[in-house]
Amino acid sequence: MKEYPIYIGGKSRKSSSGKTFETINPATGKALAKFQEGTRKDATSAIKAAEIGFKKWSNVPAPKRGDILFNVAVILKKRKKELAKLLVMEMGKVLPEALGDVQEAIDVFEYMAGEGRRLFGHTTTSELSEKFCMTIRRPLGVVGLITPWNFPFAIPAWKLSAALICGNGIVFKPSSDTPLCAITLVEILYEAGVPRDVVNFVTGPGATVGDEIIQSNKVFGISFTGSVPTGEYILKNAGIKKVGLELGGKNGIIVMDDADLDLAVDGIIWGGYGTTGQRCTAASRVIVHTKVKKQLEKKLIARIKKLRLGSGLDPKTDVGPLINQSTLEKTHSYTKIGLSEGAKLLCGGKYGQRTGFFYQPTLFTNVKKNMRIAREEIFGPTVVIIEISNIDEAIKTMNDVDYGLSSSIYTQNIKNSFKAIEDIETGITYVNSSTIGAEVHLPFGGIKKTGNTREGGIHGIDEFSEIKTVYVDYSGTLQRAQIDNK
Ligand code: NAD
Repeated sequence: MKEYPIYIGGKSRKSSSGKTFETINPATGKALAKFQEGTRKDATSAIKAAEIGFKKWSNVPAPKRGDILFNVAVILKKRKKELAKLLVMEMGKVLPEALGDVQEAIDVFEYMAGEGRRLFGHTTTSELSEKFCMTIRRPLGVVGLITPWNFPFAIPAWKLSAALICGNGIVFKPSSDTPLCAITLVEILYEAGVPRDVVNFVTGPGATVGDEIIQSNKVFGISFTGSVPTGEYILKNAGIKKVGLELGGKNGIIVMDDADLDLAVDGIIWGGYGTTGQRCTAASRVIVHTKVKKQLEKKLIARIKKLRLGSGLDPKTDVGPLINQSTLEKTHSYTKIGLSEGAKLLCGGKYGQRTGFFYQPTLFTNVKKNMRIAREEIFGPTVVIIEISNIDEAIKTMNDVDYGLSSSIYTQNIKNSFKAIEDIETGITYVNSSTIGAEVHLPFGGIKKTGNTREGGIHGIDEFSEIKTVYVDYSGTLQRAQIDNK
């Protein structure tokens, strides 16, 4: 089995522990490749190398950095199909979604490449004469990028592209479930012309490699996507540095009595069972009006029963495996919790009849908003139905969770739509569309326990740059603001 290195200062190395771990194909349970189990020492070496890389890279003009990011997009485009297949093998999502994952990486590298010719600050007036005021953007220095496994190309690409265009040095630690996609992306960056010491790559446990990165006082920014407990730990332990957190969700779809039900069913199936429910924006709650509940349930059951489990590479497959054994067990434990809480199981609730980590698409109804299955992130193919009788109750139910990432409402009524847009407490709201489907030129992120940042679009730049305020006084005299002009 092939063994992959870590990359420090442009050199490929083995872990200082001498240990390795395996990445697993979740559809078969079989190992794909070996990776280095990095250590705190390796993380420290990577940070040192990134400091050197940063000094050079931050002096490269931003449009030139942009040219290199364009090259990345070109290579990704050329290799799109091959990369998507690799992604399916390592992460399990179905091929059309894997192609979308790679496409998202292409889009964000193209977008951020263009940002090299913007990186806008602003100019403004001064309260004194012969004085000029403006802001410029400066990179943070060395930044740590820590990523999950569910979008193995797209999420690293969002972070790498924005961090690179701003001129930072990088230490990248991917999830141990998808290091093969991560190293492939890093090698594409090198091929495209990103200097090797600018992007340092260390695989290994979050508790050691990740922890060393977040606690280092040589690292000035952390961009983290993952679970709430890890995010909370990072916030408490990172010290004074910029920390961007993109965490979990318990996203809901409201279906009002005037909704186009067939459209809503399409959105629920896509949002709830797409990526086997393993999206931070997955629709895990359906908040439905009493008048259409029965009808909606009937339509959903019919559709769910037709969903086929299988390998993501099989064109007949609708729902791929979960990422690993512990996620599979966690999903099943929530089925047991739902039943013990008194919810009614309409479909699924069982392990898939295959090798690998398969779970049947699961639907619960008669769920009360205080039940654990209605409040906690399951991150599997489990959707719960909660009944409401008016728009105010729907929005109150939607907001009655700790998370605030994505939301959706299906209605033909403009008043319901705007109430939802204004009053739902999430970073993203869709009208007559599902909870998933971010576009890279728009901000992405949540509120409440979902996090504290926005990635994508011009806001993606804020996470990886500092604003410096510049005053140029060309009067030739000492002018004191707030004193000499009053
Ligand atoms: P996770 O928190 O277990 O791990 C994420 C990363 O953090 C991994 O690389 C892991 O090794 C690292 N890590 C773990 N402990 C660490 C520590 N003490 N210090 C530093 N790093 C540490 O999450 P996961 O299971 O990989 O991903 C699933 C979660 O990610 C879900 O909760 C999902 O909602 C969330 N997610 C959020 C978004 C978003 O944009 N909001 C997107 C995708 C996934």
